[in-house]
Amino acid sequence: MKIFNTMTRRKEEFVPIEPGKVRMYVCGPTVYNLIHIGNARPMIVFDTFRRYLEHKGYEVNYVSNFTDVDDKIIKASVEEGVTSDEIAERYIAECKKDMEGMNVRPATVHPRATQEIDGMINMIGTLIDKGHAYVKNGTVYFATRSFAQYGKLSGKNLDELRSGFRNLKVSGEEEKADPLDFVLWKPRKEGEPAWGSPWSEGRPGWHIECSVMSKRYLGEEIDIHAGGEDLIFPHHENEIAQSECTSDKRFARYWMHNAFLNIDGTKMSKSLGNFFTVRDIAAKYDLQVLRLFMLSAHYRSPLNFSAELMESARSSLERIRRAASRLTDLAAAAGEAKEDESAKIEAAKAFVDRFDEKMDDDNNTADALSVVFDLVRFANTEVNETSSKELVDTVTDILRELTDILGLIVFVKEELLDADIEALIAERQAARKARNFARADEIRNELKEKGIELMDTREGVKWKRI
Ligand code: AMP
Ligand code: ZN
Repeated sequence: MKIFNTMTRRKEEFVPIEPGKVRMYVCGPTVYNLIHIGNARPMIVFDTFRRYLEHKGYEVNYVSNFTDVDDKIIKASVEEGVTSDEIAERYIAECKKDMEGMNVRPATVHPRATQEIDGMINMIGTLIDKGHAYVKNGTVYFATRSFAQYGKLSGKNLDELRSGFRNLKVSGEEEKADPLDFVLWKPRKEGEPAWGSPWSEGRPGWHIECSVMSKRYLGEEIDIHAGGEDLIFPHHENEIAQSECTSDKRFARYWMHNAFLNIDGTKMSKSLGNFFTVRDIAAKYDLQVLRLFMLSAHYRSPLNFSAELMESARSSLERIRRAASRLTDLAAAAGEAKEDESAKIEAAKAFVDRFDEKMDDDNNTADALSVVFDLVRFANTEVNETSSKELVDTVTDILRELTDILGLIVFVKEELLDADIEALIAERQAARKARNFARADEIRNELKEKGIELMDTREGVKWKRI
């Protein structure tokens, strides 16, 4: 399997540190608001990659943080007159709901910055002791010139950057020894959350949290570090500096970065105001449509959000679901083989290899999705009422396996939840009461189609899955 490594700017064969295991860290969102669909792109893309790694037999330790101490969170807390903790708690809960809707599996661990302050103080202490950081008036800075490899990930021309920064005169940071030095710890300002430290009562800078959480949950050396491409500089460059200066080891072997989700050719972002939240999309679409839309592009290509592309994703999803539903119906009636189907069974199995080949090529979900559509076409043309149970089941299992890797829920009949069934039954009762028997029958039939049988008994309506 090959991964495009931002560090070397080429596709490299993936070799994990420990055979059979993958240690992966994905930078998570800052929780001060509902997440937008730009934030959803790395979530969906790397969740899919994780699922694929598991399909290949790897045990994946997948860590993704929530940044819950930050200027924007503090601003939101002041505006609402509540604590930053309350803001963070609320939006972590909302983010988890969105993840569930998009079928993004929870990480093995979702650490929160505010719960890792001790680890950060320790690492900052080590960096000071080793001469990689210095204190000025209660603020601790990382000394970028102390790390000869600073800039290796982004390939930036540091001298140009330095002179650019010098002209900028960042307010309050004139005390830095070098314009590229960045904050590891800063003293509190009035009304801000703060923790005690040897340097000042204050709070950590943003970058240090990921170095610390990655080390704590995955160890000093990890296999894959991922996030959106805007994080390459300075965030990931700074993480590398902090981690490698602490451990004297290589921090991450592979760096994966997704390109932006754009709207009208511009990056979707909160600060520009040109965004849709995942919640906005959920009001109009099944979030599986959003997931399919995201996977229909290569993760390293910019993706433009548009109503047309969403509509096309919607009909693509329906096409797969119709095939899945047809296979389920065929399975119920299928029996013994009437003719030799071995060639068809082999042809069906070959789709898994074709799918893997695409995913092995740097997580190419766009091409892997095309293989799924080819499989759908195969199912629609090669499997029918005369097919044996073995053939129907083989094709069904493969369709389920491949769509599971992509995190797409296509066998929806089984997904009908008890609460949905109860709600439809209540609606049917109301329709009957209103003597709208046509609607009542329609609901009965709709449920029947989804494998739910209704029984009108003296104790009321009972139902069972058939
Ligand atoms: P933030 O909350 O801004 O720190 O972002 C969380 C994650 O979402 C990071 O990995 C960002 O790179 C990513 N991200 C933010 N906006 C976009 C976008 N428009 N397209 C793709 N990824 C994005
Ligand atoms: Zn990070």
